[in-house]
Amino acid sequence: MPVVLDGTAIAAQIQQEVALSVAALAARGVRPGLAVILVGHVPASEIYVRSKVKTCEELGIHSELITPPESITTEEMLALVDSLNQRDQIDGILIQLPLPAHVDTKRLLDAVLPEKDVDGFHPVNAGRLQSGRPSLAPCTPAGVIEILQRSAIPISGAHAVVVGRSDIVGKPAAALLLNHNATVTLCHSKTRDLATLTRQADILVAAIGRPGFITPEMVRHGATLIDVGINRVTTRADFDRFFAGDAKREEAFTRRGSVIVGDIHPHAFAVSRAYTPVPGGVGKLTIAMLMANTVQAARLRRGL
Ligand code: NDP
Repeated sequence: MPVVLDGTAIAAQIQQEVALSVAALAARGVRPGLAVILVGHVPASEIYVRSKVKTCEELGIHSELITPPESITTEEMLALVDSLNQRDQIDGILIQLPLPAHVDTKRLLDAVLPEKDVDGFHPVNAGRLQSGRPSLAPCTPAGVIEILQRSAIPISGAHAVVVGRSDIVGKPAAALLLNHNATVTLCHSKTRDLATLTRQADILVAAIGRPGFITPEMVRHGATLIDVGINRVTTRADFDRFFAGDAKREEAFTRRGSVIVGDIHPHAFAVSRAYTPVPGGVGKLTIAMLMANTVQAARLRRGL
């Protein structure tokens, strides 16, 4: 039977450790602080941001939620970021994406001081990660590594195949796996004969954004499957393709009109050694790693 890699339990463990670190910093008169900027009203972003702020409160991290109107300009956002860069009480700055189309996202992400870039998106942090130097790593890929390590899945020497090369997930996941001595293959939409590569994976990381894209035929028996994807299934045909016979999900689908599926077809989990479920897998780690990064930023900035 494959092992279910329980993201909820691992995230709770990390958050306990973060709370201990916060207490240790408090004893030295330091309280880590996170500023979250949420522009306009994007319902999905509002949910994420609320849980980030709530988790800060639970762990003793100071948090500030800044909510400029949708009409804010790039220049005004740059001034806001600059003021946060200068404030000693703020260790981490998070700009919730996506931003309105008229705002220059890249310019803003580049304006965050690298030492306060708790999302790990600044080119300086991306470069530090690529060159194997200590850095603030993007939260979701950092969570992937935590899941593997805390579940005693060997990374060193393993062949890790990452499907998806975004700056937020795929590329940093590949860099982190390489830094942990995996042999890494990074695949994308132009990769030829993808299934031949995915079938060689000891660790297969799917970060594609296409529901159930990795099918059982694409997976080696005994592989560890890490499913980063979060996709909403809204049609009966898709529901049946992924979840026919699953009474619990059937009930949720009837009630809400949708369910979540990852980038790995749920039937593929049966042939794996271990896998992260969706939901309840990688997604649970993202906020925990944001908290860990905020504490790390607070320490690094003070040379602790
Ligand atoms: P992007 O859309 O930025 O990147 C998708 C990647 O998948 C691209 O590199 C693309 O290749 C590749 N791809 C698309 N189609 C194919 C294909 N047919 N064959 C091979 N590769 C393909 O997505 P993200 O990286 O931002 O997100 C990926 C998934 O992870 C999404 O479902 C998202 O919701 C989820 N996610 C989950 C998070 C969490 O907290 N758990 C956090 C962030 C994302 P190319 O570059 O060639 O176009």
